[in-house]
Amino acid sequence: MFREAGKAIARVADAVADFAYPRICPICKGKSDRARRCICWNCVAELKRHAFAGTPCSICGSPIDARLIDGLCASCRRSRPHFDMARSALAYDAEARNVVHDFKYRRQTWLSADMADILEGCARASFNLDEVDCIIPVPLHPVKFVSRTYNQSAILAASLAKRVGARYSGQILRREKDTPTQTHLGAGGRKKNVAGAFGVAYPEEVRSRTLLVIDDVMTTGATLDEVAKALKKEGAWRVWALTLCRASVV
Ligand SMILES: [Zn+2]
Ligand SMILES: [Zn+2]
Repeated sequence: MFREAGKAIARVADAVADFAYPRICPICKGKSDRARRCICWNCVAELKRHAFAGTPCSICGSPIDARLIDGLCASCRRSRPHFDMARSALAYDAEARNVVHDFKYRRQTWLSADMADILEGCARASFNLDEVDCIIPVPLHPVKFVSRTYNQSAILAASLAKRVGARYSGQILRREKDTPTQTHLGAGGRKKNVAGAFGVAYPEEVRSRTLLVIDDVMTTGATLDEVAKALKKEGAWRVWALTLCRASVV
């Protein structure tokens, strides 16, 4: 009986909140028809998944020719990343970019529940989460954190950890270099830009562990590679990476 009463109260609270603050879908700008979420059902259905139609590279997840016997893309074959596996939920098309920018730069942190839904689906489909010792975000440099006031990747990582019952830590990894934005850099420039940018604050939390690193967007994988390099240097057993979106290289 208490449970039914609780549900009824929650429904009334939702209706009041909807009336006071209508949830507007960040993609079609219409009123969302999903309870406690902003992206409407229609737009959820139309979000483009990261290309899994082909065979994914066993390391980075990029689509490859299924006939390749080593299961690796040309990039991973040329230079093996430090992470063991990386997967992404969505292709970084115009719709996804707009939502990520609303969340990341326009302070629309209420979009985090929508994004965590999408991330959770990809996490459960791609990794054996029982083997993950800790979920960690790609950290922001303290200077950037002060100006932005929140780390979008930390919000996503904490939310994912709660949903899947895993441990979360935003303290294990540190960003030691305040690197300039790499939006307009190519693969070589990105690699140089993040070289030596990360350090491990608590090596005992990393040694012999399996860590799942969360970020919003992966482009060349240079940032995640550098993160994995720092974690592996401290003896991490496996580093897996999961991002909301996968962008193509500029
Ligand atoms: Zn919509
Ligand atoms: Zn690859």
